[in-house]
Amino acid sequence: MSTDILADLRDVVDALTNPTQVRNPRHGRDANGDRVKLPDHVVTLPGLIAQVADIVWPTGGGDSESARPVPASRLPGNPQAMAVHLDIWMGVAKWHMMWCLTTRDTVESSIRQLLGRAASEDSDTQEELLVEMRRWQHRCEVVLKEAFNDPQVQSPCPVEGCGSRTLRINVKKKTARCTTCRARWAEVPDPERGIWSIVGLADHIQTHEAQSRAAASEARAVEREAKERRYGRSAA
Ligand SMILES: [Zn+2]
Repeated sequence: MSTDILADLRDVVDALTNPTQVRNPRHGRDANGDRVKLPDHVVTLPGLIAQVADIVWPTGGGDSESARPVPASRLPGNPQAMAVHLDIWMGVAKWHMMWCLTTRDTVESSIRQLLGRAASEDSDTQEELLVEMRRWQHRCEVVLKEAFNDPQVQSPCPVEGCGSRTLRINVKKKTARCTTCRARWAEVPDPERGIWSIVGLADHIQTHEAQSRAAASEARAVEREAKERRYGRSAA
């Protein structure tokens, strides 16, 4: 019985701490236009905890927009991811104290240390650790899913004086935010707290996209006309 619990524990520890490879099959066309299989596109993803740590403090960008001062009352980065990361750290520290172990320098290595120690504990204790680690795994998965359900739209932020292309939409929660000016939009607006109507934002995005489509097709028409003038209509 306890070997099953240990095997389950090992699986959860692997998911939390070990990189995984994701294989995406690829296909192309050969010289005859027939579909051929290409080598898989292999992406190595870090363990769940490392993935969560990556979104705690957004690193990418480097453009001047991200160098904005952050109001003291609001946490920078992704507070949900930060909360999950801290909870896991605290949970790991609790088990280390209980078993009089010395915490290692990374949370991953400390978790693997707990797995090693669990082998010499009774099955009730192992079960308790398994339940806790499964909760960590679940919370990582939830926060990662939410972070990647957050598509970026191309329209600029409608806030006067902002206009940055840093709007983020959370489809599930029907909310949006601008990561530059920190404006927020929701179904139930609350202007006193700086939360505006998501319907108004949707209108703004639709209008902006329609205008850019119109501008793009006009630019293409102008370009086509110029080409036709240069090469003559027969070349078209
Ligand atoms: Zn903005």
